[in-house]
Amino acid sequence: MSKINLSLPEVQIREIRINSITGYQGDAKELVIASREGLKDKERSFSQCLGCSTSKAACMTVLIQDAAVISHGPVGCASCLHEYTFTYRVNSPLRDVMQPTPRRIFSSNLKEKDTVYGGNMKLANSIREVYERTNANAIFVLTTCAAGIIGDDVEGVCQEAEDELGIPVIAIFCEGFKSKVWTTGFDAAYHGIARKLIQKPRKRRTDLINVINFWGSDVFSDWFAPFDVKPNYITPYSTVKGLKYASEAAATVQACSTLGGYLGAVLERDFGVPEIPAAPPYGIAQTDRWFRALGKILKKEEIAEKIIAEKKKKYLPKIENLRKKLKGKTAYVTAGAAHGHALLSVLGELGLKTCGAAIFHHDPIYDSRRLENDQLAQHVSDYGNVTNFNVCNKQEFELVNALNRIRPDILIARHGGMTLWGAKLGIPSLLIGDEHFAMGYEGLVQYGERLLEAIENDEFVKNLKKHAINPYSKWWLEQPPYYFLKGGGGK
Ligand code: SF4
Repeated sequence: MSKINLSLPEVQIREIRINSITGYQGDAKELVIASREGLKDKERSFSQCLGCSTSKAACMTVLIQDAAVISHGPVGCASCLHEYTFTYRVNSPLRDVMQPTPRRIFSSNLKEKDTVYGGNMKLANSIREVYERTNANAIFVLTTCAAGIIGDDVEGVCQEAEDELGIPVIAIFCEGFKSKVWTTGFDAAYHGIARKLIQKPRKRRTDLINVINFWGSDVFSDWFAPFDVKPNYITPYSTVKGLKYASEAAATVQACSTLGGYLGAVLERDFGVPEIPAAPPYGIAQTDRWFRALGKILKKEEIAEKIIAEKKKKYLPKIENLRKKLKGKTAYVTAGAAHGHALLSVLGELGLKTCGAAIFHHDPIYDSRRLENDQLAQHVSDYGNVTNFNVCNKQEFELVNALNRIRPDILIARHGGMTLWGAKLGIPSLLIGDEHFAMGYEGLVQYGERLLEAIENDEFVKNLKKHAINPYSKWWLEQPPYYFLKGGGGK
């Protein structure tokens, strides 16, 4: 187990805790080997702007149905919170939330004077006012760079407010400047939830499994039903009560190990909930392993075997048919770490050739320290190597340069704003926000159909290419894509 310490208010950043990196260029196989032998980050001599941990902490708190969130800092830092109000509303049907309530997001609005005299009082007043206005069942306070730099006692103010109001008031330390790996913000949110919200189990339930995910569709209810188990989704669309007793579940599964690796490990180590020793179920080989691991942990192996056999009988002919149509097509992936690796496996299973990837960071190991959870290692062993494998924290200039050279048949992206680069170059580009869409055997069929649709309907991007203005200079496009990365061919 790694350096998890719930007695401390702050989580250790990923660079220190699990040696995560944001700079690498080479191939996937070398990266897997280097991850076992001691991986070193590579510096960039030039960098475009990065994401901020606050945004990721917001992602895991704003979507809790009955909580409120305060960004403690200048109002600009709260600008990333609103995007989750949109996410909440748009994706609510995927989770049967038929009447999505307005999200409760606030800023303590630190001003210049507050950075001189301190913002503790302003925060205390903000918490009181937010409670009066929302009657929330828990309030999360997300720290920002300004609050961190002036050294506000956010933990102390939250504790006092908790004693006064009688609800959990949880400090989440997620200042953007602390880490180049913005997924540290997920860990920060989970750390606060585990410290202050999750209770010791009253009993162990055999009918509940935690699913740590984003906002993906509810595929797990159907998958778990033959085992007589229900999913407890964490944290989007959960409730404060549902989170409190996540400690009683029979097991934890992940939609993405990069997202939930920390909380999965905490639930196992500090609350006795085992995490299943398998990477999420993307691609046939991994889906087989995942169902078997689930069956084993629930002591219902025969049910797992029955599900695998039935689903394969139903979906394998369709997958084979798609493979024939997609054979020879090339794809490039840009996404966050484990989910990006999962998409590589989906492409591998469907018979596409992955000719490169720009993955936002790399975790050499997850907090569980289990090699079975390493989705990239599983991908390399199931489907082979990926060349042009780049780890870059959304350095779009590198992506555009690489795409311009490689010219895949399709660009697969996971984050908004990335598909436009493929489209501008006339490359069909696909982004699917529902992270469960490609999961399992049935997921391969629906994802394969969407891939075909995107590749075959390329008229729009071809036209766009004729009119698009590329902001990058001819000079830059003639340089090696990793020119500014140490050892990447630049000066
Ligand atoms: S990096 Fe710092 S200043 Fe920028 S949005 Fe994040 S918390 Fe605010």
